[in-house]
Amino acid sequence: MGNKEIIKKYSAGKLDVVWKPTKCIHAGECVKTLPQVYNPKEKPWIKPENATHEEIMTQISKCPSGALSYILNETNNKEIK
Ligand code: SF4
Repeated sequence: MGNKEIIKKYSAGKLDVVWKPTKCIHAGECVKTLPQVYNPKEKPWIKPENATHEEIMTQISKCPSGALSYILNETNNKEIK
């Protein structure tokens, strides 16, 4: 469909964090909320294993741009916004 949206995935056990760099408005909410997970100076810049799944899911729901989402592998790879 000519849609070249870039999608990056960062896995930690049952949870995959999905990040769409083209949507990110760099508001820094994620970095402020969970600095141990989101560190733009490091590679990979998202380390989902450094927080609980609950902490990550709560934080992702606050991402203002929708750049972040997650996939819970135990729910048949269903993507939740
Ligand atoms: S909270 Fe969302 S929009 Fe803000 S920097 Fe993180 S990913 Fe980008």
